Amino acid sequence: MTTLAPWQESVLDSALRAIDQDRLGHALLLCGPPVIGKRAVAEILARRLLCTTPNASGRACGQCRSCRLFAAGTHADIQRVSFELNDKGDKLKTEISVDQIRRLGQWFSLTPQFGNIQVAVIAPAEGMNMSAANALLKTLEEPSSNRYLLLVTDHPGRLPTTIRSRCQRIEFRLPEPAAARQWLRERGVADADAAAALAAARGHPGLAADWLEQGGLRLRQEVGADLDALATGRISPVAVAQRWLADDLADLRLRFAADLALDTGKARREGSNTAGEVGRIGDWFDALNRCRMQLRSPLRHDLVLAGLLHEWGNMSRRAG
Ligand SMILES: [Zn+2]
Repeated sequence: MTTLAPWQESVLDSALRAIDQDRLGHALLLCGPPVIGKRAVAEILARRLLCTTPNASGRACGQCRSCRLFAAGTHADIQRVSFELNDKGDKLKTEISVDQIRRLGQWFSLTPQFGNIQVAVIAPAEGMNMSAANALLKTLEEPSSNRYLLLVTDHPGRLPTTIRSRCQRIEFRLPEPAAARQWLRERGVADADAAAALAAARGHPGLAADWLEQGGLRLRQEVGADLDALATGRISPVAVAQRWLADDLADLRLRFAADLALDTGKARREGSNTAGEVGRIGDWFDALNRCRMQLRSPLRHDLVLAGLLHEWGNMSRRAG
């Protein structure tokens, strides 16, 4: 059984209480920051909803046939909808299609194979394109007492209001700094590393842990050094752009660069810089994020990024 972090436990507990008191909605929106453990909680909830003999603490028993099928990954009454592989089979698609949601609607219309409950998890829910979301709305408009729909999203605001308004919201929040440090400590992270990683991840323990494991902190420092070198004209924007995009860490580098630009913008607001200089940083931040979002499309990102890095150098020198 998975060990949950305290911030997952508290969300799960309130959902389990809602089940006990028969006030859990049939359409749930599990939302909150990325990498905070929403999907894991969705899975535990799904297992609990399907369990035929939940235990005294209101959790799945782990013993009944339903729980055993769930653990074996062969339960027929749970469906997970996410990005499918593309036709070549080498990459994930970037949208959840209307066909996927229509298939889900058809599946929901079948009689459950095992117990009398069906559960579907859609993650990331904001990955549904507009027609998929419209198709889902039809399912949401025909509520049924034995059907549960769990929507998992980092960006609830990207879902149509019509969908959000039909869902019960289950919100995940970042823990207090002390709880985040304690959690990292329990995972064997030294206090100094934990503090640095949490500062970089803006208090997000899941991200901090990921970065510590995958060398993300070092990568962030390298990106910072590159931005400084661009600011003093010691390095070529084209070379940096090519290096940043050379491997599958490109997205994380751009994320760090955007994040460091935010810090620079903040320092300038507090310093003696003009509103125009601060505003330019804001525009640059937006442009860099657009570039980051387009990384999965077949564009020439190196040219766009080199242009942006060139601008960073100019902007930094102007502001001094
Ligand atoms: Zn069970």
